[in-house]
Formats: sequence, structure tokens, C-alpha cells
Amino acid sequence: MDNNYNPYQDLIKILDKVAGMLGYEESDVSILKYPERELQVSVPVEMDDGTVKVFQGYRVQYNSLRGPYKGGLRYHPQVNMDEVKALSGWMAFKCAVVDVPYGGGKGGVTVDPNTLSHKELVRLTRRFTAMIAPIIGPEIDIPAPDVNTNAEIMGIIVDTYSMLKGHSSPGVVTGKPIELGGSLGRAEATGRGVMISTMEYFKKHGIDPKTQTVAVQGMGNVGSVAANLLNEKGCKIVACSDVSTGIACEAGLDMADLMKYLSVRGNLLKDYKRDGVRMISNEELLTFDCDVLVPAALENQINETNADKIKAKIIVEGANGPVSVKGDEILDKRGVIVIPDILANAGGVVCSYFEWVQNLQFMSWNLETVNQKLEEVMVKAFAGVVKKAEEHNTNMRNAAYMVAIERLVRAKKLRGIFP
Ligand code: NAD
Repeated sequence: MDNNYNPYQDLIKILDKVAGMLGYEESDVSILKYPERELQVSVPVEMDDGTVKVFQGYRVQYNSLRGPYKGGLRYHPQVNMDEVKALSGWMAFKCAVVDVPYGGGKGGVTVDPNTLSHKELVRLTRRFTAMIAPIIGPEIDIPAPDVNTNAEIMGIIVDTYSMLKGHSSPGVVTGKPIELGGSLGRAEATGRGVMISTMEYFKKHGIDPKTQTVAVQGMGNVGSVAANLLNEKGCKIVACSDVSTGIACEAGLDMADLMKYLSVRGNLLKDYKRDGVRMISNEELLTFDCDVLVPAALENQINETNADKIKAKIIVEGANGPVSVKGDEILDKRGVIVIPDILANAGGVVCSYFEWVQNLQFMSWNLETVNQKLEEVMVKAFAGVVKKAEEHNTNMRNAAYMVAIERLVRAKKLRGIFP
């Protein structure tokens, strides 16, 4: 894809556009265009063969107007400062859309974790945690899983941070193992939120899920759960992909079988051979003939090169930033509905908030409570965005940013500027 693509510039473009639509002056919103703090760290790791490799790590604290910084940690070869800045900004707007008392943050390490042994991955995580420890903490900045990180990595961060502080500090991250204070339902929460957003759209427009075909890009934490839950609601999952390949089956993929296959660590779709299932490319997946497309992998997957070829009528953004600004303009002109990332994939941070609240209170909620509260927050946020879209006769992305920007500008006005 486009090597010059800069997601942070895309974020600024949409901010400028929506601030203009709301009639704000530049000075009302200028504070929202810059991260409050950017940290880049060098992370030396002793490899299993005794050599030392130095990886680059990042933590960007975008905004704390509405609460502590909050956002995931990504391990991926493409991680760079502009990406982390954009991802941290999206978190600030996302937390404002769903009205949880957090600002936005994000971090990551430029690394392909598949090239590391398990022990190297643990050493990388421990040293990275030590390098960002001065600026994170349960009341300061709370990381969580993102691409190629998971509950196990969060557990290592809890241990490292707790050892450095001299006391147990489970609230320093969310998305950790249940045994270490993680929340029931957190692992599925982002995908569940994607499903809830899709169902809310269906309900509002009288669409029967049983008539809907769905394609999902990226069968990781977010995509696989979203696909499975949408399938449980009656949708037919006709295609999906991971980093290795796409697969398709017009009759509908057997989700129980596929989920079982994907639950085995290291299993990739390229080795998923079943009758009636054929391999397709990532590009074919994105332009697959379906009703709903859920991009749940990385940024900039739908852009000016392919937006005119998308056949889906509804795009539900499981990933952060999967549609570029230029791609979005093309989709909007074509009447393709986009349920934007800062709403559609907010279920993860909402449940992270629940986890953090449980940690701070030394309590744990049952799964039913978590899922019910998650649904309440998502449904309310969805309705708020729809209302805003109707009031301004605009699309859901613009409306979601309107809701977020209004809340952030209001917080800034109430707080004033220090000193
Ligand atoms: P993950 O590492 O669990 O899964 C990512 C998936 O995408 C994997 O299946 C991988 O094989 C696939 N993938 C990678 N590159 C691909 C490509 N070029 N084409 C097709 N598939 C590809 O990560 P995740 O946590 O599911 O995150 C996915 C997206 O959702 C990211 O944009 C992330 O920021 C966003 N997100 C995650 C959460 C969360 O709670 N984990 C919350 C909100 C948003």
C-alpha cells in the first residue's frame, strides 16, 4: 500500500473538517491537534544467541482532558511515531464518544514478534515496560492489548511494573489475565462492540441479520469475535482473512469449526483446507460481494486505490483507521455507510474501563453484568451519534467526531489552561 500514508495527518484533516462543521474557531480546537507528550525509547534485548538487538518503542499520551491516558500497545514492524500519534488521538476521541472518563494514549514497539522466541518476547516486554514505567500507572496512563499483544503480555507488564514499584499494581494495564485481575468479557469486548454497533444499525434500518452476508479482514482478537458473534445473530460469514491469506465460501463459513481452528496458537488461514472453502487475496477480500465488510486488521486498507471497488453496503470499522480520508470521501459519495472506528470498536476500551473500575474497587463482576453494561454503553453511544448525524444531516464518522470534539472542547473550557 501507500508508503507515504500518514494516519496522523488524516486525523488532523478530519478534525479540521468537523471543527469547521461545528463552527469552532481554530483556538477552540488547536489543543486537540497535538499529543500532550511523546516518548520514544530504545529497548535493548539480549537474544537467545547472546547478541543484543535494540528495538524502538513508543508511548504517546495524546490527551488527558477527560481522564487518565488510555490505549493499547502494538507490536508490529510498521509501528512508528506518526502511527502511534494517530492511534493515541483516535483513543482520545473514542473515549469521548462513548463517554468513559479517559483521555487517549497509545504505544508500541517496532518489531515482528513472530521472529522472536517466547523468552525474547518476554525480555522485550519487560525492558519496554521499564522504559515507559516513569510515565504509566493506574491513575496516569493505562495500556492494554492491541495488534500482536494479548492478555499474557499484559500479565508480564503487571509483574514488571509491580516489581519496579514494590507493590502489586494490577490496575496499570487492562486486558490482563482474569487470574491477575482481568475482567471477564474483556477479551471479546471489542468484537462484541462491533457486533452491537452492527446490530443497532440493522435495527434502526429494519434489516434482518439473517439476510446479511459479512466479510471480515483480520481474524485476530477483534475480527474473529466479531465474525463469530455476527454469525450467532444470523449473519452469514462468506469471507475472512488474516496476514497469510483470505478464504471465501459463498454458502457460509462453518464458524464453529473455524473458531476452533483459530484458537490454536500459530494456526493461519492459509492452512485451513475445507470442502467448499477457497483461497482469495487480501484485495479480493476487501472487494468481496457482501453486505457488510468488517476491516479488523490495520490502517489504510480502504483508500483511493480501492474505495470505488468496494461492494459492501455497510463498513463496520473493527480496526482503527482502516479507511483513509480519501477512501472515506469516495465511499461517502457512493452512499456506502461507514460505522466509524471511534464508535464501532470502542467496546474494548469500554470494557477496559470496567476492568479498571473493578481493580480500583478490588471487586469482580460476573460476565452477565459486564456484557449488559457494555451493551448499555454501546447502545447509548450509537444512539448519540445517530442523533448528531440526523441533526447535522451528515454521515456517522463526522457525527462521531462531533460528539467527541464537543465533549473535549467543553472539558477544556471547564478546566482552563494551566498555569
Ligand atoms: P490481532 O493481532 O489480534 O489481530 C490482527 C489480525 O489481522 C490477525 O489475524 C492478522 O493476521 C491480521 N492481519 C494483519 N495484517 C493483515 C493484512 N494485511 N491483511 C489481512 N489481515 C491482516 O489484533 P487485534 O487486537 O484484533 O487488532 C486489530 C485491529 O483492531 C487494530 O487496528 C487494532 O488497533 C484494533 N482494535 C483492537 C482492540 C482490542 O481490544 N484488541 C480495540 C480496538 C481496536
